[in-house]
Amino acid sequence: MAPGIVPPYLLARIAALQEENWARAAEAARATLTAPREYRQARSRLRLSIQEPGTLVAEATPAPDREISDAQQREVLPGVRVRGEDDPASGDQAVDEAFDGLGATFDFWWDAFARNSIDGSGSSLLATVHYGRDYDNAFWNGERMVFGDGDDEVFRGFTGSLSVIAHELAHGVVEDEGGLEYRDQSGALNESVADVFGALAEQHRAGQTADTASWLIGEGIFTDAVQGRALRSLAAPGTAYDDDVLGKDPQPAHMRDFVHTRDDNGGVHINSGIPNHAFYLVATALGGHAWERAGLIWYRTLTAGTLPSTADFTTFAHATLAAAAAEYGEESEEVDAVRAGWTGVGVIPDDEPARPAQP
Ligand SMILES: [Zn+2]
Repeated sequence: MAPGIVPPYLLARIAALQEENWARAAEAARATLTAPREYRQARSRLRLSIQEPGTLVAEATPAPDREISDAQQREVLPGVRVRGEDDPASGDQAVDEAFDGLGATFDFWWDAFARNSIDGSGSSLLATVHYGRDYDNAFWNGERMVFGDGDDEVFRGFTGSLSVIAHELAHGVVEDEGGLEYRDQSGALNESVADVFGALAEQHRAGQTADTASWLIGEGIFTDAVQGRALRSLAAPGTAYDDDVLGKDPQPAHMRDFVHTRDDNGGVHINSGIPNHAFYLVATALGGHAWERAGLIWYRTLTAGTLPSTADFTTFAHATLAAAAAEYGEESEEVDAVRAGWTGVGVIPDDEPARPAQP
């Protein structure tokens, strides 16, 4: 099943509600959990790269190529095309929020990392809104971003949060860069990388620094009936919500609280709290705009071409150290911050030597 922004354990909890006043939400969550979703595997691609030394290349800022479709509350993709890149605002809130959110996400990837869209080569950004009736999720299906309207009792629509839109698009970037298998620790890393770039896209649009940002994923997607600020918090995993109905945010922030479970593909939306918090520690230690140094280190890690798709937390942590050293030097404050981030969440032991002993 395609990864969704709302984890299955949260939907299961809503689905089990018996009270009359949650009837619509319970029904919606049951339908969302059982709905089949088509997931397209990445197609293999042929890439051509022609570089002639001495050739002058005109520099241009690329622009996004967005296309929004409307599923008209059916669970059929792509739905009816309702807005293309050159079309004016449609007047439909979900359509226009998705369009604007994809644009802000495109600008983030280009400004921060000079990445031209999901595949780095200007691929179209496709989204479908109004997917299903009372559909309680948003997901990336390997080809497009898909957004439900929510049930209006627990969840509002999902296009209102830029971190949700950017999270889904980041799954596309991860997949394009070789992927992280969607189970156990590599799956939690896949979720975490999507959260990190989701949060960074939101911070980039708002011009926020690491210490002024909320570090929340999905702020504003709950209705006022829910005691919760968001789906997840990178600053304080485990505190995003604490509600009679939804229960408490189950994310750990440290390896000592790692959750061993077979649900949720081995806890991919739960244990992602650990690498999420490591990133937060690195970003706040370095200060300033988090995408400029911490984000760049994570981006280089993802795109170096050396990260195994089955990477566990320790492998990923050492890959971020190598990326930081390559970018800023072995003795840099960036390397020290990255090391402190991973020791802070218990992934790298405190007593691990900073550099391998010389032979
Ligand atoms: Zn996800």
